[in-house]
Amino acid sequence: MPFSDFAGNPETIHRLREMLARNRFPHAVILSGAHGSGKYTLALMLARALNCQEQPATREGSEGDPLPDFCGHCSNCTRIAQAADLDARFAEAVEARENLRDADKKETRLFVQTHPDVLVIPPDPPQMMIKVDQVRRVIETIYYRPAEARERIYIFTSSAFMKEAANSLLKVLEEPPEFASIFLLTENAGELLPTIRSRSMTFHLGALPAGEIESRLAELRPDWNARQRALVARLSERAIGRALSFDLESYAAARSHALIMLKGAIDGIAAKAGDHSELFKTTEGYRAGAEGREKIDKLIRAFYSLLEDVMFLQSGAGHLVRNTDILGELKKMAESADFAWVQRAAQGLGEVERGLRRNLLRSLSLDAFASALERVS
Ligand SMILES: [Zn+2]
Repeated sequence: MPFSDFAGNPETIHRLREMLARNRFPHAVILSGAHGSGKYTLALMLARALNCQEQPATREGSEGDPLPDFCGHCSNCTRIAQAADLDARFAEAVEARENLRDADKKETRLFVQTHPDVLVIPPDPPQMMIKVDQVRRVIETIYYRPAEARERIYIFTSSAFMKEAANSLLKVLEEPPEFASIFLLTENAGELLPTIRSRSMTFHLGALPAGEIESRLAELRPDWNARQRALVARLSERAIGRALSFDLESYAAARSHALIMLKGAIDGIAAKAGDHSELFKTTEGYRAGAEGREKIDKLIRAFYSLLEDVMFLQSGAGHLVRNTDILGELKKMAESADFAWVQRAAQGLGEVERGLRRNLLRSLSLDAFASALERVS
């Protein structure tokens, strides 16, 4: 999978490859971008380009000088690529730690390593933060020349550092060895210490045009039709990774429930008389259960996306609508409900969410929301 397979952000990729070409690759690189924007994919591509044994060069499109790329099949490329499924490798590392004796469990920090010179550092559960012992492992190894690669690579997949961990990392960045590159991935570079940021070069991965996501999906998710691809491109905030892993089936199920509740409430306004039966039949399905919490989170997210789309339509910003496949229904709702009502409904939904965080009985707070939707009319 060479650089030409990376989705979007061509200027950023070009700048990075030019630095590779000039042998001026920075020791510390911050890759910032939304969840699913391709930060980890790009870091692994750069790790391969820095260490590929064949070091091919390719052109971007048909113009310009060839720039460094990676072959994808040498032993460095293939071993680094084994870390690509981060969720799976992370789950394996967590399981391996679970199987340790209690005394060792406490001492063991999480890493993903599929190549002796490439270390991936994920946030350590349960706090899901980068801990000082993880940074210590970096310090212990980074000053040794790589064994099989040209560059030692360290990839921190989160910028949530414990304070002591951040301070230790800073010491490494003050004196990085010639033969190492550190990648810091973040959704918000402001989370990192200013002193860490000033010692790193920051590259941002922005959202892709919806059309580009749709055409990638046409290639990689042929099981979705054009309407579904358009929907997913918008719901994933135009982040390619989120689009590719989007669970369309469960979103569609949650949205159909949210639609019943919303339409029921809006029809209630029109008729001035509420028939709650449909509404409560829907919330009935959300009574406490093992998977209840996740299911209700999905319902709430689907509900928000519908309410926001209705508000977009009411404020003349129809081009921002995400649930494009049900545009007709959304327009009808936008006409029947007034803007203030929709805003109050969104506030009510916020209260349900807060109630859930306080662990109020799930179904109770949903029922309360359902009847509140009617009352506010
Ligand atoms: Zn290679």
